[in-house]
Amino acid sequence: MNIIEVYRRFPTQDDCIDHLEKVRWHGTPVCPYCQSEKTTPMPKERRHHCNNCNTTFSVTVNTIFHHTHLPLQKWFLAISLIINAKKGIASRQLARDLEVNKNTAWYLGMRVRKAMTEADQRQLLQGLVEMDETYIGGKPRKGSKDDQNGEPRKRGRGTKKVPVVGMAERGGKVKCQVVQSRNLKAVSLSAICKQHVDTVNATLITDEFLGYIKISTFMKHETVDHRVWYVDGDRHTNTLENFWALLKRGIIGQYHQVSVKHLHKYIDEFCYRHNHRKHADLFGLIISRGLGV
Ligand SMILES: [Zn+2]
Repeated sequence: MNIIEVYRRFPTQDDCIDHLEKVRWHGTPVCPYCQSEKTTPMPKERRHHCNNCNTTFSVTVNTIFHHTHLPLQKWFLAISLIINAKKGIASRQLARDLEVNKNTAWYLGMRVRKAMTEADQRQLLQGLVEMDETYIGGKPRKGSKDDQNGEPRKRGRGTKKVPVVGMAERGGKVKCQVVQSRNLKAVSLSAICKQHVDTVNATLITDEFLGYIKISTFMKHETVDHRVWYVDGDRHTNTLENFWALLKRGIIGQYHQVSVKHLHKYIDEFCYRHNHRKHADLFGLIISRGLGV
């Protein structure tokens, strides 16, 4: 759904609440505190009274929209802007588009991203699965020295940037995990692989990095020689490489500085957009997720 459709379908706060109530409760409000269905509507306040625990509640309790002072339409617009921005959207841009201040936009973005974090993370990848790592963070300037020991900064493996490990099912989903540099070793890469990949029903394709050396002890494993320029049939890691390119362009171009603390949320956002690229109603999906439905 684009922003024009959001304006058309949800012109008022009441329209937004009606929609959330329909998605969350399908016509029968349930008290979020005691799960009772014995409630009395309070139409003027757009709240409900629970006759069991004697509290009042609105549809936004315990959802990403909880305690918001913003009109819900701005939330809906934010969701629409974020899911339609293929390369991501910076909070400054979101602030301008929604006419809210920078902090509010940042908060909105974080909340929407939270709803985009994969609930189906437990589903294992099958078939041909590519696995690769990349490094995210500011590129060291050419010739610049490391602050501590005066060594020239390295690029690629061995840098101080944050390593991200990714796995991509050919034609399917992508999963990523932010890791500590010291975890980029055979033992932990194997553990990450086992956590996300169906080791019985998948063939893993990686490059020849030593960290992947133990993979073949527990599942089918093929390697790509990156010194060879051509793609050898199915044996390539292009799905992930394209994904990394999009992710890096997004993070460098839209977000500039992403702290390590929040990096996984941005990566989740990109995974989510990739994994649901063919979904017909991404907007509806995020609203449901945001409501915890
Ligand atoms: Zn109750």
